[in-house]
Amino acid sequence: MIEHPPLGSTVLGYPRIGPDRELKRAVERYWAGESSAATLRSTAADLRRATRAELSGLGSVPGNTFSYYDQVLDAALAVGAVPPRFASLADGDPLDLLFAMARGAEGVPALEMTKWFDTNYHFLVPEIGPDTEFSLRQRTAVEDFTEGLADGVVTRPVLVGPVTLLLLSKGTVPDFRPLDRLADLLPVYAQLLAELKAAGAVWVQLDEPAFAADRTSEELDALSRAYAELGGLTDRPALLVAGYFGPVGPALPVLAEAPIEGIALDLVAGAADLDTAATLAGLRDKTVVAGVVEGRNVWRVAPDRALAAAATLLGAAGRVEIGSSCSLLHVPYDAARETALPAALRDRLAFAREKVAEVVLLGRALAGEQVDDELAAARAVADRSVERHEEVRERLAVLGTEFYGRPDGPVRARAQADELRLPSVPTTTIGSFPQTGPIRRDRAAYRAGRIDAAEYQQRMRAEIERVVRLQEDLGLDVLVHGEPERNDMVQYFAEHLDGFATTEHGWVQSYGSRCVRPPILYGDVARPEPITVGWSTYAKSLTDRPMKAMLTGPVTILAWSFVRADQPLGDTAFQVALALRDEVTDLETAGLRIIQVDEPALRELLPLRAADQPAYLDWAVNSFKMATGAVADTTQIHTHLCYSEFGEVVGAIDGLDADVTTVEAARSKMEVLDELGPGVTRALGPGIYDVHSPEVPDVATMVELLRAARSVIGPERLWANPDCGLKTRGDAETTAALRNLVAAAAAVRAD
Ligand code: GLN
Ligand code: ZN
Repeated sequence: MIEHPPLGSTVLGYPRIGPDRELKRAVERYWAGESSAATLRSTAADLRRATRAELSGLGSVPGNTFSYYDQVLDAALAVGAVPPRFASLADGDPLDLLFAMARGAEGVPALEMTKWFDTNYHFLVPEIGPDTEFSLRQRTAVEDFTEGLADGVVTRPVLVGPVTLLLLSKGTVPDFRPLDRLADLLPVYAQLLAELKAAGAVWVQLDEPAFAADRTSEELDALSRAYAELGGLTDRPALLVAGYFGPVGPALPVLAEAPIEGIALDLVAGAADLDTAATLAGLRDKTVVAGVVEGRNVWRVAPDRALAAAATLLGAAGRVEIGSSCSLLHVPYDAARETALPAALRDRLAFAREKVAEVVLLGRALAGEQVDDELAAARAVADRSVERHEEVRERLAVLGTEFYGRPDGPVRARAQADELRLPSVPTTTIGSFPQTGPIRRDRAAYRAGRIDAAEYQQRMRAEIERVVRLQEDLGLDVLVHGEPERNDMVQYFAEHLDGFATTEHGWVQSYGSRCVRPPILYGDVARPEPITVGWSTYAKSLTDRPMKAMLTGPVTILAWSFVRADQPLGDTAFQVALALRDEVTDLETAGLRIIQVDEPALRELLPLRAADQPAYLDWAVNSFKMATGAVADTTQIHTHLCYSEFGEVVGAIDGLDADVTTVEAARSKMEVLDELGPGVTRALGPGIYDVHSPEVPDVATMVELLRAARSVIGPERLWANPDCGLKTRGDAETTAALRNLVAAAAAVRAD
């Protein structure tokens, strides 16, 4: 333990893309060669300065929250974990090395990217092997601190902690565990801490969110060793170790025993830690940051509940401070800018800026200041009831949320074979066709009121007709309408369902310069009128071939939205499912015999701890079944999932009971079938065309993939299709690739 001043109220991190996505624009201009590194650096410095000003009311201002691309990549660069393939860039401008590792450079592949726990943020996976030479290679955190100091702000630098950094890394050789390098990594952290101390830092935050997931006792030992060593240093700032995205569980006693000065807990997703905290004597000389202001959702805090949770800690901890549950990276900047939203909804929203104010207010309340009026105002907003839709509630109560079994798969398969008369190894696509400039411009023109509904409909219909004719010419068996009317597979449905709002400025970083604007699901969900039926019916009218209708599933709609927090997520999922069920029924009535319900986010929402997973999978599967279960045996339900590693969700995919499941498989050369082949009972369409690459796969390659798939799952349940939607591809390459795909299926059929 070292002497230290009190921490004060704080947030664990802040958005960095800029309120108007300034960083996105600046880095993209730099990548395109349209601006200099100096210009980019100066935009970045402006953003950092604005953030510090924004946070100045906090007791402790987090620092180093800025990143040009990703904080995990920054940490890897700081400690020298640069794979040898980037060696030639090591002596150039550090920005170019950073972007090369993030995005690849001339034949040198980028680091892999994966999801940051159960959020929609993606980080770059560091590569660490037996030969990685750790050294303090980049001092971004020190420079950021010094820059703040020059502005008169003593920030609390935030770093990815050493154990989480290693746990998130990938070994460079088979069976190598990066965590085995902990002893070599810690001296680099020690040096960084010493340099921060020398620069004037008083507190440093080390993030260890990996402990919100299940961890082995060996991994808990590593945590203990890491903080015994870092805490044991004398030449260092006070250490705040942050866990978030759930309870840290068995890691809490470990941290309580460690010679560190502070622990930040997520008391929104991890309230279970409160019970443990009460029993830990080790907390008595520590500061505990009570993360009661939710960092990853957009609702105003309920002040009484938040203060009660913080107060529970008062007896256990040496000192309690108010904090956010996690970094505010996951919410947009400023709810006050959403002037197009109904005031009643806007008042209930707290984005990053409003959350900072909430933390400050609760901090003052906890310190015993007289803030009754402010608390009363906050309470009034938090107590406001959510918009209810009684009819939806009544229908769900009658329907129940249990199993909507369709008859046995084989019975359905026979009925569908008679109805659809498809050849063996049928060919299809995943839904979207290339969204070229003109389509995007037409959608924008319609949104801006430059063209009217009739003109818009006519243009979209022309595109649908073009895509239908193209598919007929190519000889595809199951056609799609191409989704030209959809900006995004979730936002499109959010815009057409009651209970959802969309924002104007609510951008959050997804990865690098890519930002998304998640819809806000704020009330009971209902479908005021059919959404896709008109488009699909029109598409069907153009052709004699089977037309596949296209919907987004309940889990995916929830996963890519901000969701209401006043009821269990599963209850909300069933409301979405009921709306989709009506849509499915209407599509069937309109004569659509094949309906695809995409669930690419099924795995994303999987809880971090195994104990929480069965309950999630239960409602996830049942909501899909609610959406799809009302159709006749002759109607074929498809689903699509975008990735190729399924692990613990294979059983759930089978549980969805879709007649056909399409997945990504081309890049991994059908490996996915080792799991899915035996795991999934019904038909499978492992992708044979990697839509993430502009390359046109030749017939022989696709034949080989289809034969490989057939040898695992047999010919009866094999489909031929691309990995995913074609939205981001160009017209020419798509046409060529699909032509080859049809030829490949024909060749395999003839075997
Ligand atoms: N049907 C969607 C499309 O083709 C599916 C997209 C996805 O899986 N992410 O674009
Ligand atoms: Zn996909």
